[in-house]
Amino acid sequence: MNDTNFARISRVFRPEIGSVTLCLLTTIYLLLITNRTFWSKAFGYFGVDHFGFAIFAIGIAAASMGVVTLFSAKYIIKPFLIFFVIAASAASWFTDAFGVIVDKEMIRNAAVSTGAEAGHLITPRFALHLLLTGALPSLLIIWVRIRHRPIVQKLAHNTVVILACAAVFAAIGFGDYRTFAGVGRAHKDILDTLNPFVPITSAVKFAISSGEDANVVAQPLGTDARRVNTVATNKPRVVIVVAGETGRAQDFSLGGYERETNPELKKQNIVYFSKTSSCGTATAVSIPCLFSVYPRSAYTHRKGLETENVLDVLGHAKVSVSWLDNDTGSYHVTDRVPYAFLPDSADPRFCKDGECLDEILSDKVDDWLDKVKGDSVLVLHQLGSHGPAYYARYPEAFRRFTPDCRANDFGSCSPEEIRNAYDNTILYTDHLVSTVIDKLKRRSNTMAASVVYFSDHGESLGENGLYLHGTPYVVAPVQQTHVPFLVWLSDDLQASAGYDMACLAGTADKPTSHDNFFHSMLGLMDVSTKVYDPKLDVFSGCRKGNTHVASAP
Ligand SMILES: [Zn+2]
Repeated sequence: MNDTNFARISRVFRPEIGSVTLCLLTTIYLLLITNRTFWSKAFGYFGVDHFGFAIFAIGIAAASMGVVTLFSAKYIIKPFLIFFVIAASAASWFTDAFGVIVDKEMIRNAAVSTGAEAGHLITPRFALHLLLTGALPSLLIIWVRIRHRPIVQKLAHNTVVILACAAVFAAIGFGDYRTFAGVGRAHKDILDTLNPFVPITSAVKFAISSGEDANVVAQPLGTDARRVNTVATNKPRVVIVVAGETGRAQDFSLGGYERETNPELKKQNIVYFSKTSSCGTATAVSIPCLFSVYPRSAYTHRKGLETENVLDVLGHAKVSVSWLDNDTGSYHVTDRVPYAFLPDSADPRFCKDGECLDEILSDKVDDWLDKVKGDSVLVLHQLGSHGPAYYARYPEAFRRFTPDCRANDFGSCSPEEIRNAYDNTILYTDHLVSTVIDKLKRRSNTMAASVVYFSDHGESLGENGLYLHGTPYVVAPVQQTHVPFLVWLSDDLQASAGYDMACLAGTADKPTSHDNFFHSMLGLMDVSTKVYDPKLDVFSGCRKGNTHVASAP
């Protein structure tokens, strides 16, 4: 075969297409195939105003075409179009199947996920989805031959196309400004799921901010902190904090859930705060926010990094602090505190494929208690109810609600099976916290102990078509923000530090939130510092006598 023949044949097998035409086809593909959630949500928001929705759709299409055409240049067009298609394919899987919004915080969450966690999300159905909606159209883009105009002509042509798109978008956006501003204001999340543009922008924002984070040094906080009322008892004051994962208050029978999911804790003398809201809807927000001095209204990721947290303040007061992690890490909360990541131990009694059952935490508690010499705080960071593989969170003995979903994605499970598996994780958490309380009860002769448990955020189990968590807070459903929060105080601590348990129980149905944690921990340890705010300490109104010095003199 001579060169001319070869060229002719390859031309037959590789159709030629104009660069702007290819951009147009790719835009249509992205909007029609990878944006099911985006369109159905927007359609719902416009309600009966179908004309308004149609105009909105034209505006979005014009803006998308304009953006895609920006990359219509020799050598970069194919890589960029393929990148758009693959990104949209991957993001649409999470958005359409789980209702997940791929924003900056979600990307932060994904970036810090452990390999085992990510592994649960890569399922055969996800791979098939990527193949059909990502790889296949990418192959088509590779296959075609692109006809580029001469450079000057091309620049002029592309500029005209881009300006025309921008003009259509602007005319629609500003021409019918009131309608769009109205719908946009009522539904701030209307653009949140636009694939792939919003996820890509989020990833870029995340990359920029994590680059900046690397140089942040936390400023000292509460360096005046000191323990007070140490004469009340000569035993060390010990608090074990169980930092929960993905436990939602709605499924705690302590809070009125019709199923018995707290059979062990209900027998312990605990106080359950039934109206507690979380700081965020994802671990990467909630955990650093919870330990920070900032209330939710003032907290930002940056401020969390820039300021020491309650563990540091306790350290300034000479309280010994340590953290055992069975979750995904401490999100810089323990940068200045002894820390152990237990899955690294691969203890065969609890661990499999890089993840461990939460009993690996309670298993370590006795060792830690044996070494307690003075006032101490231990944080146990649970894997809790982390989805979607709920079934992997509990051992066979806690498989009580059946049939339980045993799959990594929810497509093959009924809503009832998903709920059963999730509720089994709550049973197991109930067991973990109760076990920790029992261990401390057995040491009541040698320490004045207490336990604090809360969850970092809740979980959606299919309500309104949503699964998992991480929905932006302003639009998050209550299932993701209403979290369990409970405390147990040993009899000895109640007596020696003057806690009025009836009073505390009486306040437990008042609204509380993660904002209370920082100050309640200082109150519980009787730490005096000017950064302590008694108004945010859930215990401060229920202590007999004047045993606690509210703040520095
Ligand atoms: Zn979490």
